[in-house]
Amino acid sequence: MRALVVRSRNVLKRKSIPFVAALLAVLASFVAGPNAALDAAPQHRDQVPGFYRMKVGDLEVTALYDGTGVFDPHWLNGTKATMDGVAKALHEDPHMLDVADTGFLVNTGKQLILVDAGAGTWWGGGALGRLAGNLRSAGYTPEQVDIVLVTHLHSDHVGGLTTQEGKRVFPNADVYVAKAESDFWLSPEIAAKAPKDAQPFFQSAQAIAAPYIKAGRWHTFSGPEPIVDGMQIVPLHGHTPGHTGYEFSSKGQKILFLGDIVHALRVQLQHPEVTAIFDIDQTAAAAMRNQLLPRIASEDVVIAGPHMNFPALGRLHKEGSGYSWAPVVFTDQWDAK
Ligand SMILES: [Zn+2]
Repeated sequence: MRALVVRSRNVLKRKSIPFVAALLAVLASFVAGPNAALDAAPQHRDQVPGFYRMKVGDLEVTALYDGTGVFDPHWLNGTKATMDGVAKALHEDPHMLDVADTGFLVNTGKQLILVDAGAGTWWGGGALGRLAGNLRSAGYTPEQVDIVLVTHLHSDHVGGLTTQEGKRVFPNADVYVAKAESDFWLSPEIAAKAPKDAQPFFQSAQAIAAPYIKAGRWHTFSGPEPIVDGMQIVPLHGHTPGHTGYEFSSKGQKILFLGDIVHALRVQLQHPEVTAIFDIDQTAAAAMRNQLLPRIASEDVVIAGPHMNFPALGRLHKEGSGYSWAPVVFTDQWDAK
């Protein structure tokens, strides 16, 4: 090999210097072994865009990632025995209370409907608020959204609707929320009587709703009449006074957007009686979960749960005295069932 290098240099003496240098570099790397001349590949550290699409009948459902967080065990209320078990399990698996925040886009072919809007900038920490960016990555613009269906007015579900400056993020959308929900969080009288810890929830709900109310885009409902074709309103009060699920059906397939029926899936599916401190009516929240879970575990219905691990889509099955979560498995096959 050395002879080859020397001979090459002699032959190429009269050619341009850069060419000789390049040739020598190639030959030197060949002598030293493959890839030795390459720099180490830098780590990229960015991620694929946070959206996941799924076909439900003729509907295109796109889960939009808003962010992740960790649910504090002190936010859960259960019996001492259950909570001791949670503490022990958490010690063994520090990730068991990891949660996501997700909104969902439903393209019916006629309308673009957003179900919950993530936290925007209204839920501190900076780990949330990615939904609008991921909606763009998914090929849509906020201006294209026709309707927003709101499960409830906690800021991790509606913060993404409005900027801190009071600007509507979805300027062409009509927002729909249960009347009981709107009446509760937007009432100055109820807010004034609420405990200090709860005050920020009222303040954010009012600030987020304000520009839509002003624009005549804030609508409330109190009956079961569907807002769009093929959709059913599912009253799920308990977590909040007007907490509402939305069930869409198409070609015999169903998907239920169930809001905050489950916060900590690895606790509340095995122990549906465990509530969260954010549940306004603890008894009603547990009763609603106990009523809903058996139904959805016995039906073939896709569940969209904002705080399930992303893409927050899956199915529920009965398991022992509780339930198990079967998340969707990634596929790029659009027709996958
Ligand atoms: Zn929530």
